[in-house]
Amino acid sequence: MNRLNISFGPESFSLRDSFTISRGAKKSAELITLRISDNIYSGFGECTPNIRYGQTIDGELDKLEVMMQAFEASNCDINRETINKLFEPSPARSAFDIALWDLELKKNKKSIWSYHNIKKPDVLPTMITLDASNIEKNLSIARTFSNSKIFKIKFKGDETDIDRLLKIREHYPKKRLLVDANESISPSKIGKYIESCERLNIEVLEQPMKTEHDHLLGAIKTKTILCADESCSSLEDIKKIEKYYDAVNIKLDKAGGLTEALMMQEVAIRKGIKTMSGCMLCTSLGIAASQIVAAKAEYIDHDAPLFLEQDRKIKINYSCGNLNIASSMLWG
Ligand SMILES: [Mg+2]
Repeated sequence: MNRLNISFGPESFSLRDSFTISRGAKKSAELITLRISDNIYSGFGECTPNIRYGQTIDGELDKLEVMMQAFEASNCDINRETINKLFEPSPARSAFDIALWDLELKKNKKSIWSYHNIKKPDVLPTMITLDASNIEKNLSIARTFSNSKIFKIKFKGDETDIDRLLKIREHYPKKRLLVDANESISPSKIGKYIESCERLNIEVLEQPMKTEHDHLLGAIKTKTILCADESCSSLEDIKKIEKYYDAVNIKLDKAGGLTEALMMQEVAIRKGIKTMSGCMLCTSLGIAASQIVAAKAEYIDHDAPLFLEQDRKIKINYSCGNLNIASSMLWG
């Protein structure tokens, strides 16, 4: 077994304001930071467990302990190939995988861009999320980030959704708008919501209903792009959603790391499924590791660090609807 020093622990990053979606409100980003060192170079990763998938900070810390013990008990080298072969996708595996990428790139003195032979973009655009709290807050955030090309409006499945959407459309008649329902629309109301999305020129409707209702989308004909998020976590889920969705939101925490996220994106593109590069509530470190996915995605939702009171010391800068490319001091 190769000798690597691995340490990890929970960290909490307060949000500037609470962030509300259909499943409730959050006041902080609770995540795990992981460091892997070969005593010359260090690689960093982070992950954000999501209770929607039954994940907690303690549960993911336990998974990391189990991973460490499994490596100690075997002669397996710790590398991206072994962690992705031995362990199921999880936020814990994602933090591990991202840190291993970082270490590997630093050791080889390569950027993620040169590794993949992709020209490093100058900047990447990001959509800005307007949460499901209230219209006043939505319009205030929209004003602050009016340079952003796309707004993502969170729905909660009640009567306020369409009212908010109408008002936002009135204020921004030409803006590209995307709706993320986070599974909040009931099957009896899906027709009405789709009709409103078409009327208000909503480009994408993300995860309208609960995963178990996906098959109902098969009967819906709409020009609005339907994007899977909660219904598609990892590579093997793509075959479950390809009949019902036009697009998929790829997140490293769901995929269990960058290695699987890149495979998901490759398969999705081959099948003609559009891709979104998304994130959980995370810091610039989580975003940095997702930027290579974003560079090949139709949609980029990388605004999470904007909601933090304080980001990492080395961070990604945002301006005019764009974010800069992470320096290798942060990741990669
Ligand atoms: Mg979503």
